[in-house]
Amino acid sequence: MIEPDKIRDRKLGVIAQKVLDQIPVNREDAAYMLATNDILDLGSIANHIRNDLHGNTTFYSVNMNLNYTNICELRCPLCAFSCDPGDENAYLLTLEDIEERVKAGVAYGIDEVHIVGGLWDELKLDYFESMLRLIKKLDPDLHIVAFTAVEYDYFARKAGLSLPELFERLIDAGVDAIPGGGAEIFAPGVRNKIAPKKISGNRWLEVMKIAHEHGLKTNATMLYNHQESLEDQVDHMFRIREVQDETGGFKTFVPLNFHEENTEISARRSSTGYDDIRLYATARIVLHNVPHIKALWMYLGDKMAQTLQSFGVDDISGTYFNEKVVHAAGAKTSDRGSEPHLQNLIESAGYTHCRITASYRKRSEGNKE
Ligand code: SF4
Repeated sequence: MIEPDKIRDRKLGVIAQKVLDQIPVNREDAAYMLATNDILDLGSIANHIRNDLHGNTTFYSVNMNLNYTNICELRCPLCAFSCDPGDENAYLLTLEDIEERVKAGVAYGIDEVHIVGGLWDELKLDYFESMLRLIKKLDPDLHIVAFTAVEYDYFARKAGLSLPELFERLIDAGVDAIPGGGAEIFAPGVRNKIAPKKISGNRWLEVMKIAHEHGLKTNATMLYNHQESLEDQVDHMFRIREVQDETGGFKTFVPLNFHEENTEISARRSSTGYDDIRLYATARIVLHNVPHIKALWMYLGDKMAQTLQSFGVDDISGTYFNEKVVHAAGAKTSDRGSEPHLQNLIESAGYTHCRITASYRKRSEGNKE
């Protein structure tokens, strides 16, 4: 239990009292939290919410990544992953390639396939439907988290379908949930610099609302540590909170720290441990209506993934075999994690691990590789 009277910083004490009284914090509170150096008191407020929601449990998943192509028409300056057709390292996974990879994942014991890729006009809806059906045929119990809001918007336009029609087709083919990518930062000024051809923040939120109306649970991300201001971060989180008040369809908020290697963007600075802690703890407090806050160990490293569990984070993400996107941008972590490794990151921080799919369906543990 937090004790607002014992918090030395008056403003953080007021925020703690709001949390106890279940009054949503405002934008000014959020900006204050993102700038405070008093991270221990901030963390105690964030963890009060985390413990109320999830007790001592931290979630992880055993999953694989499927990045079906790196060919992309948008070539966002923030992206180290994309290529033009014909580039030396351009690739496209055929259905045979996908079958081989998913079979290897199933042999390992994965619960989930996470699918995202570039936007390429050559790929028709039939390719995506066949991919989804093939995966479900290999193992009907595999949970498929597929395509960002940016991809859904593109597929719908290219196929001449409305978004509701597209969602119906892809749910029928096997989509179970939607990842949170493509949100980047909603603030138009910065978004236009880092991803000028990508759909606007408004459109990203609109696609998610329609997905929620179709019963799909989704994540929401925020790319930080590039050219955004603290005010942009605050605005991003509040816009997610507003949509969540309407739909209740976001299950997880996932801040992603930007890696600049091989991109056309110079990071404004390398985020410090304090920056990461402030952001995750503030997100836990601001997004009181989003159940989970996830810290991707692959983006942050093992040590920060452990630490953030005491600052509001209740999910450290998955094994993600063959992660391509952040490693193309210079992430120094491994591009795959074993289940015992993730369990150790949780246990050694004093928490109890629980293996789940992206919809937080509990799965039995025990993969030892
Ligand atoms: S970030 Fe996504 S949309 Fe932008 S270039 Fe990379 S793959 Fe394409």
